[in-house]
Amino acid sequence: MLANYIDGRFVPASGAAAIPVLNPARGTVIAEIPDSSRGVVDEAIGAARRAQAGWGAHTNGERAAYLKRIAAKLRDNHEALARTLSEEVGKLLDLARAEVSTTANFIDYMAEWALRIEGEIVPSDRRGETILMLRKPMGVIGGILPWNFPFFLIARKMAPALLTGNTIVIKPSEETPGNADFFARLLDECDLPPGVFNIVHGTGKTVGEAISSHKGIDMVSFTGSVPTGIEIMKQAAANVTKVNLELGGKAPAIVMDDADLDIAIPAIRISRILNNGQVCNCAERVYVQRGIADEFTDRFVAAMEQLSFGDPLGNAAVDMGPLIHEKAAKRVAGMVEAAMAEGATLLTGGAHREVGGGHYFEPTVLTGCAQSSDMIQKEIFGPVLPIHVVDDLDEAIAKSNDSDFGLTSSIYTKSLSNILKATADLNFGETYVNRENMEAMQGFHAGMRKSGIGGADGKHGLLEYTQTQMVYLQN
Ligand code: NAD
Repeated sequence: MLANYIDGRFVPASGAAAIPVLNPARGTVIAEIPDSSRGVVDEAIGAARRAQAGWGAHTNGERAAYLKRIAAKLRDNHEALARTLSEEVGKLLDLARAEVSTTANFIDYMAEWALRIEGEIVPSDRRGETILMLRKPMGVIGGILPWNFPFFLIARKMAPALLTGNTIVIKPSEETPGNADFFARLLDECDLPPGVFNIVHGTGKTVGEAISSHKGIDMVSFTGSVPTGIEIMKQAAANVTKVNLELGGKAPAIVMDDADLDIAIPAIRISRILNNGQVCNCAERVYVQRGIADEFTDRFVAAMEQLSFGDPLGNAAVDMGPLIHEKAAKRVAGMVEAAMAEGATLLTGGAHREVGGGHYFEPTVLTGCAQSSDMIQKEIFGPVLPIHVVDDLDEAIAKSNDSDFGLTSSIYTKSLSNILKATADLNFGETYVNRENMEAMQGFHAGMRKSGIGGADGKHGLLEYTQTQMVYLQN
């Protein structure tokens, strides 16, 4: 059974119930984790609290040196990390490799902010007074992670938190704990002061709730689904703990009559199947203008029909791996069945397929889904794309904005006027023009509406892990 990493040591969780971890492509058990108790969470938060004052007293440059050492360790173990990730998430090996590289690059990127985090000098309205705004660490961060980009998300929380003088307790997803254990083993070789970085394994109900409701946590940084985000806000409210929430998405891709389909079709296709259709900011619905709708739909369906799927670590090269588990495949199947029962037309795919112990969903395209239907309004998180025909850009924008989610949007057009209108009127944290996700680490990944509170990456993501203190100096 994997051990927790607390106060610089790997600590077995004796007596805790064991949770099996499956390879989603084979259905085989590849590890076990403990469902750690609230007492273990207390220990980890206590260690992080004790470590914080000393860690906070380092200079940013000193802390950055540790981060760079960790990034170098990840690069030294690149291929083994990618295989671990592919094995437990079911993601294609090339994507897993890219995730490991991005993670190392992200840690280096955050380290490079060391000499650039500045306070402010604010003008005073009193004679002889100087007003300073200082930036201080939040204290102890609780990081709660999903399973879809689990390795990158450790760094997305750990790197800005540690650089700015915080310590952290991470709870990996119970579906994908192995990459976090690997991360901790490499970090353990970097001589980080004990307690600065901790990992506690377990379920959301035990470890997740214990972290987000704990009065020793100064900020909960969560990435996951909207319902869990709501629970975490409720738990954090008891201690008025700051929350940073990166939640789900339902990204619209708008395809105008003047779009270059040689760009739009491959971009939307790769977005829809990336990570086997399980990405928060990938295209989840298309609004295509009537004049080009038939051509777009025919070519898009043909492109989806060319895709192969299977075990990413098997012998044959595949375009897509399995969904994370059987429950996810059944949920996607249920959404497709419901859409068809409501009158949608299935253009290709539509079936849940169990192959070699893995649960796959065929690349699927639907049309004729009502704007109010679950297929248009709820996150699918599988390789299923509803195509909805619109008359003009106004209708496409109105229907795009008609959503609880506000993470990502995209538009394909050659018209500057369309681009200006769409970027002004689409209410999403990200808008991509003539391309799909992914986001840049120097940007700011943040969702509107129920897609989240606060954001990650870049200068603004870094500053989320700080709080301000105003100092009034009167001479
Ligand atoms: P999830 O919400 O089911 O679980 C996420 C984490 O929360 C897990 O570690 C889980 O154990 C924990 N958890 C569950 N219940 C909890 C509770 N009551 N209290 C505290 N913690 C709890 O999400 P998931 O299925 O792991 O991930 C998929 C979701 O994540 C999708 O909705 C996706 O859009 C979203 N996501 C968003 C982003 C983003 O940047 N906005 C990135 C990746 C994934």
